[in-house]
Amino acid sequence: MSAAIRILIAVSFSMLATLIAMYLLSRLPGMDVPLQWWIFGAACPLVVSFPVSYLLIRQGDRNQMLHTELRAAFAQAKHLSEIDQMTGLLNRATFIRWASERSKASFGAVLLIDIDNFKSINDLYGHHVGDTVLQMVAETLKSSTRSTDLCGRLGGEEFAVLLQNCDIDTALNMAERLRVNVSELQIALPNKQVVAPTISIGVATQNGVHPFQETLQHADRAMYRAKNQGRNQVQLAA
Ligand code: GH3
Ligand code: MG
Ligand code: MG
Repeated sequence: MSAAIRILIAVSFSMLATLIAMYLLSRLPGMDVPLQWWIFGAACPLVVSFPVSYLLIRQGDRNQMLHTELRAAFAQAKHLSEIDQMTGLLNRATFIRWASERSKASFGAVLLIDIDNFKSINDLYGHHVGDTVLQMVAETLKSSTRSTDLCGRLGGEEFAVLLQNCDIDTALNMAERLRVNVSELQIALPNKQVVAPTISIGVATQNGVHPFQETLQHADRAMYRAKNQGRNQVQLAA
């Protein structure tokens, strides 16, 4: 409803209330109300209630607007505190919190993913190229998984994916698909050099009974086995 209509309603209501009160008063014995008092009774609330209702309604609208802005700012701040600024994936704390909650009642798998020889990429091509590799690997993880899966950056060049409601074969297939998709990335540099990152992945299944942190440790050990056995591969936790 527009502010003008709300002001009109407020002014009409106060005029009507005053006139009804005057009418009831005039019905009492010996209380005859002369015409000029009726005019005064109608004009007085008009003069008083118009500026008062205008100010109150304007203030109310401002409060409403500030409330909406505050809610939007809060939602934005919450979102920013949950994501990793560089890659747009969940940050470590949020990934672990959400994954722990979701793991309680469902079976699935955790993939722990680490970019191979990432330090050499930084050293050879510069930190900014390393950052681009991080962003492209993150984008590949996100676009290769389902919207219901969780993808997070645990720190540095280490990522994790939580696959919900999937068996061991599906988890291994998914890990292999991620590995292949990343290995197909070609980052062309201005000097015509091409950076082709690879990843090592540890896979651990969870059954909704063991704590999520335990599953993550199993995936971590499997990932280190993948590193020791030559990198660019998937290993299943023992
Ligand atoms: P491995 O195959 O065994 O995992 O070797 P690696 O070189 O990938 O691992 P290492 O732990 O030796 O090096 C990780 C490097 O990642 C070191 C650090 O400088 C770099 N790094 C961490 N965070 C960032 C980042 O945000 N941006 C860039 N460009 N580099 C980062
Ligand atoms: Mg690494
Ligand atoms: Mg690492």
